[in-house]
Amino acid sequence: MTKEEKRNLGFDTLSLHAGYEPEETTGSRAVPIYQTTSYVFNDADHAARLFALEEEGNIYTRIGNPTHSAFEKRIAALEGGEAALATSSGMAAINLTILGLLEAGDEIVSSRCIYGGTYNLFSVTLPKYGIETTFVDPDDLDAWEEAITENTKVLYLESPGNPLLNIVDIKKVAEIAHENDITVVFDNTFNTPYLCQPLSLGADIVVHSATKYIGGHGSSIGGVIVGSEDFIFKVRTEGYRDTGPALSPMNSWLFIQGLETLSLRMERHSENAQQVAEWLEEHDQVEWIKYPGLESHPQHELAKKQQENFGGMVCFEIKGGFEAGKKLINSVELCSLLANVGDTRTLIIHPASTTHEQLGKEEQEEAGITEGLIRLSVGIENVEDIIADLKQAFATID
Ligand SMILES: *Cc1c(COP(=O)(O)O)cnc(C)c1O
Repeated sequence: MTKEEKRNLGFDTLSLHAGYEPEETTGSRAVPIYQTTSYVFNDADHAARLFALEEEGNIYTRIGNPTHSAFEKRIAALEGGEAALATSSGMAAINLTILGLLEAGDEIVSSRCIYGGTYNLFSVTLPKYGIETTFVDPDDLDAWEEAITENTKVLYLESPGNPLLNIVDIKKVAEIAHENDITVVFDNTFNTPYLCQPLSLGADIVVHSATKYIGGHGSSIGGVIVGSEDFIFKVRTEGYRDTGPALSPMNSWLFIQGLETLSLRMERHSENAQQVAEWLEEHDQVEWIKYPGLESHPQHELAKKQQENFGGMVCFEIKGGFEAGKKLINSVELCSLLANVGDTRTLIIHPASTTHEQLGKEEQEEAGITEGLIRLSVGIENVEDIIADLKQAFATID
């Protein structure tokens, strides 16, 4: 397939075919797992050309691997990007992207509603290397503009945001960035390229935790960066090579397996989450609920414009606060109590007693973590079983 032909293929077809043709030696239909550290050079000159980056080819799996390459090409095709780089985790993808764009003295303006690990990277670790971040309310476009200084190199955002699933207007934030010659980095983990393609809305670089919906089955940690050929080449041959966050070829293979059913799973996650959200909205033990697919969500119209569907993440406030929240998660039987999202199975967490327990009251409030906040990552089980489990768990609360 030529590039031109590939561009005309649909999303589902690309998710099964992009990035790999049956290889010549065995004709293997599935992408082989190249579980090797290194690759034999043809001769000394060939080796020299590869090392001098004059010729493309495999040298060492810390820099590149054919299984990674198939995964990278496939995700790049799905995001509508030129190239991609697979990494050992989502955090590695984010860190390498930042290190590829900024140096000491540069600044980030970031949405405040982002993944906790990223918040920590920006607020605690990067300042040690001279990179400072200003956090803003992502819904306030003036706040983005006002936070920009002459040192700002990146605007960073997620949508739906963490933890309250607010939807950010990607086009508008990208306009502000580009007027100021600033790069937009977008964490597309919660959407996956099936629900939203931020590059087509103005983002410059997309990062993912492949650990979540891309892998999709709760089995493997990994990440990926999608961007221009030049940027990916730079990150591969600088930060990635020099700091070593390569993933295992086996994990790239598992992410390829995940991509092959991505659209089917995201449709079912969205369908189930919509039904669970509608059921919760009517429940008298629920104070409020946030799901972008509900008309009651303040940015429902924007979500409809920007996204194909609304995804699997739902959050709500249970009446009765901290104790009721704990009781609910102690009483569920089908839903798994754990700190992950994007599994095939339904996951549940009470942030105030777990992920955000160590924050003080004030910090919890600032992060939007209320006492009775419950986050659900709705899985692809039969939806009536998910609802029945929540129903019996609600019934245990006085
Ligand atoms: C999990 C997650 C990350 C971090 O990814 P890891 O694979 O756990 O390193 C980053 N962003 C979002 C939105 C996430 O959900």
